[in-house]
Amino acid sequence: MKPNFIAGEWQSATDFIENLNPSDTHDVIGRYAQASAAQLDAALDSAREAQRVWAATGLEARANVLDAVGRELMARSGELGELLSREEGKPRAEGVGEVYRAGQFFTWFAGEVLRQPGDAVASVRAGVDVDVRREPIGVVAVVSPWNFPIATASWKIAPALAFGNAVVWKPANLTPASAVALTEIIARQAIPKGLMSLVMGSGRQVGQRLVEDPRVAAVTFTGSLEVGRGVAAAAVRNLTRVQMEMGSKNALVVMDDADLDLAVSLAVNGAFGGTGQKCTASSRLVVHNRVHDAFVEKLVARTLELKVGHALQAGTQIGPVVSEQQLEANLAYVELAAQEGATRLCGGTRVERETPGYYMEPAVFARTHNAMRINQEEMFAPITCVIRADDFDEAVDIANDTPFGLTAGIVTRSLARASAFRERSRSGCVMVNLATAGTDYHVPFGGTRQSSYGPREQGRYAVEFYTTVKTSYIHAGEAE
Ligand code: NDP
Repeated sequence: MKPNFIAGEWQSATDFIENLNPSDTHDVIGRYAQASAAQLDAALDSAREAQRVWAATGLEARANVLDAVGRELMARSGELGELLSREEGKPRAEGVGEVYRAGQFFTWFAGEVLRQPGDAVASVRAGVDVDVRREPIGVVAVVSPWNFPIATASWKIAPALAFGNAVVWKPANLTPASAVALTEIIARQAIPKGLMSLVMGSGRQVGQRLVEDPRVAAVTFTGSLEVGRGVAAAAVRNLTRVQMEMGSKNALVVMDDADLDLAVSLAVNGAFGGTGQKCTASSRLVVHNRVHDAFVEKLVARTLELKVGHALQAGTQIGPVVSEQQLEANLAYVELAAQEGATRLCGGTRVERETPGYYMEPAVFARTHNAMRINQEEMFAPITCVIRADDFDEAVDIANDTPFGLTAGIVTRSLARASAFRERSRSGCVMVNLATAGTDYHVPFGGTRQSSYGPREQGRYAVEFYTTVKTSYIHAGEAE
């Protein structure tokens, strides 16, 4: 059984889950311990102690730890990416890319350890100096999802450690192997015992207890809107700081002046990459009437060419869906789309492959309108819906007409339209002639409205969440 890492020790448990490969459910990746309440308690107690030691550790030593973690992730991205793809189901190349990216989060934040400027200002009172500096907040609870099991955790754990905090990490139970692999690398570094704990277990039990615990100073969560609401409510009860990144319903707008081949590539990549299981997925394609038919024809042709298969098989472009439950939810949306009057142009069915898995053909729906539930609810599925727009203004209004606001894209050759779209979009990330999915690691990531809550993640903005500000007034007195 793969143990949890608690208070500096690998600890087994009486409860465990089996981790199945979604590309081949006969392949049991391993059994993973489920942390008990007492183990979570021990993790939190030791984190508090370790955090004080870590905050007092010299910046260079802290930077070296992050740098070493990042370099190892990058060096081992092939091996760890394969493991990630085996348990999550994304094609091997995407798994390898994700692990490499995770390494970049650590090396980038290693640099940030050394870049923690404060302010020294004159007081309004004579003889008084004021200095403003950032300090760690304490123990950070990290609750992460299965769809980017290493990258999401890394963009939370790296800044938490960089700015002097301790981490208690509850990964998604669907992807524990990636969590153990990342923890093993961090655990081998020169860090105080208990600074980093891994507490695997179900969200309802271990996750809920963790976010409710008053020893936690800050909760960073990525996952569904519904669970996010509960996490925020639990955190606020203790006045715990909280940051959340949840779902979205991202639109890619295709204008009548767009390079249609580019638009189709971006749509296919944005809608079906990661089997559509991305918070940045292009689940709505808002297409100008004048190019609608030509775009749809090319889109369907390209979608039909996509090779759905085992994540680790050469040539696979779309892996399986992550779980039976997720596949059932996806098929229920296909059913709903038909009930709502949408026209299915391709895909949307479960398919068999050589090995038993959760395979689904990517689906394109046309004749949809934005008020349909399929255009308002996050599906997290390889399903995309085309919506017609008469002109630029209508396209922008449709793109914005959702309770979410993570990413939005436009494909156009017009600089004026691109600029106007950037200005009028109500999303946190805007893409011009790029897919809605795919962001950089050194700049902030997050959305508006129901997509995100609390301070931004990543880049220079991460410091806001992971630190608190201390203002010191010093009256030196007269020199003798
Ligand atoms: P969840 O929101 O259920 O899970 C996210 C994380 O929260 C997991 O680690 C989960 O643990 C944990 N969790 C679950 N319940 C609680 C709780 N009560 N208290 C604390 N932590 C909890 O997402 P799912 O993984 O189940 O995916 C469901 C849907 O969520 C998807 O279909 C998609 O729509 C959306 N989603 C969005 C993501 C995004 O990037 N925006 C990422 C993932 C999902 P465990 O999994 O072990 O139960």
